[in-house]
Amino acid sequence: MEFRIGNGYDVHALKEGLEMHLGGVKIPSDVGFVAHSDGDVAIHALCDALLGAVAAGDIGHLFPDSDPEWKGIDSKVLLQKVMDVVAAKGYAVANADITIALQRPKLAPHIGAMRQVLAPILGVDVDCVSVKATTTEHLGFVGRGEGCEVWASVLLRR
Ligand code: MG
Repeated sequence: MEFRIGNGYDVHALKEGLEMHLGGVKIPSDVGFVAHSDGDVAIHALCDALLGAVAAGDIGHLFPDSDPEWKGIDSKVLLQKVMDVVAAKGYAVANADITIALQRPKLAPHIGAMRQVLAPILGVDVDCVSVKATTTEHLGFVGRGEGCEVWASVLLRR
């Protein structure tokens, strides 16, 4: 098959006093993500999109939170390991598109940095990596500031 498509989804709860890592970038914030890893919910959704595209399971299967090896780990390391799986299956990334739903802080100032960090790990130019952010207009758990929700889509080519 010449092309494969994948989608990924992840949610993490927010808590005061934790660091916020999103899209491989540390975001100044008084709240951060509750997680076994560094909690980078955007990279986790991206990993699941990549794994989905090659039908290789999901990150919970590859990096179980019962395993101390992944405790506090930089999610960029997990993304690199997922890219190794994609490469072993004979595929490369064509493009990726990520949508982050977060009420606060505002992510617009950090979108460019996220794309710059993610593109080389994915092995593509920056213009092949899209990161978009939205609030949910104060609706739902995202809108109440309780968590962050991320969707990711990827296209792979042989
Ligand atoms: Mg996660």
